[in-house]
Amino acid sequence: MKIIDVKAVYPNYQHIPPSWRTHFWQIVVRVESDAGVTGYGYGGGGVAAVDVVNRHLGELLIGREINSVADIADAWGDLYSESLPYGRKGIGVMALSGVDLALWDLLGKAESMPVYQLVGQRNKDKVKAYATGMDSEWYRELGFTAHKFPHRWTGQESDYDRAVTHASRARNLFGPDAMVMIDTYMSWTTDVTIEMGKRLAELNIHWFEDILTPDELDGQAALRGEVGDTLIAGGEHEFTHYGFQEIARSEALDLWQPDITWCGGITAGLRILDVAREAQTPVAPHRGGEVWGLHLIVSSDCIDLAEQNPGNRDAPKDALWVGQTPVVDGYMEPSDEPGFGVQVNEAML
Ligand SMILES: [Mg+2]
Repeated sequence: MKIIDVKAVYPNYQHIPPSWRTHFWQIVVRVESDAGVTGYGYGGGGVAAVDVVNRHLGELLIGREINSVADIADAWGDLYSESLPYGRKGIGVMALSGVDLALWDLLGKAESMPVYQLVGQRNKDKVKAYATGMDSEWYRELGFTAHKFPHRWTGQESDYDRAVTHASRARNLFGPDAMVMIDTYMSWTTDVTIEMGKRLAELNIHWFEDILTPDELDGQAALRGEVGDTLIAGGEHEFTHYGFQEIARSEALDLWQPDITWCGGITAGLRILDVAREAQTPVAPHRGGEVWGLHLIVSSDCIDLAEQNPGNRDAPKDALWVGQTPVVDGYMEPSDEPGFGVQVNEAML
């Protein structure tokens, strides 16, 4: 089938969290083919990425034949090359991610197959979900059996106590064997991380995430093994297999967390997994509980773990995608519907 139209939209979000961090500046990409099939993808990069798609990547795609996964990989390569002067990382690749995912959705719908079936042999029936956020009690009520909470270092001594208090609460709520993780969003330092490792030792934290900036690979490599059994995790701010090759070379991280809607889509995710296999490093995609990551997880050697961001109990939320997979008794499984199995809420476009 031939691509006849490509359009990116920044959704009309009504319930915008106070920080882009929790909002993610996500865009919707719509790809239409001459077979009467339409694919939808989810990318990052906000209004700037909308322009990248509508003014550049789209025109490169129109007229192109997409009939196989290999065709998607070829398209990815051409779009990556053409956007290379301004792309490679950040907004350019976040835009490309939305296009890539729209093509996977399109091909799945054209072939009447869920995306996970296009990705490869399914090897997980269901995936263990973990909840990220501050409302630990609510996540437990929702049935989650694993939990990650954010912690920002603000420079106060009391930040240590705050981490211990929240970690203790999470440990008590989820039980002695549950996975409990901490996401620092690049706010800790090397010294803070080592001290946290000591103070949190009894609480058996599974990983510390995003402790330094993605440019500080050597600093993160030096921390591996210095915080007991706690893993040094990260990668949501890295892009494509080229970026992850640098992480592999520097041996910076115990666990990789590419964001499938930012790192270059499923096409990039598969190449990152090739690099990870070589580096013998586990991969658990950032926000892997959204369909874009979940379809990759169940048919690849990603580990059995999918992140959800449920927010807070009473906070109003936008429902941009209808049909996202629910968490049942702490687990999720993708639907068998063609493509990613979700419909966009047109009222928000
Ligand atoms: Mg994170």
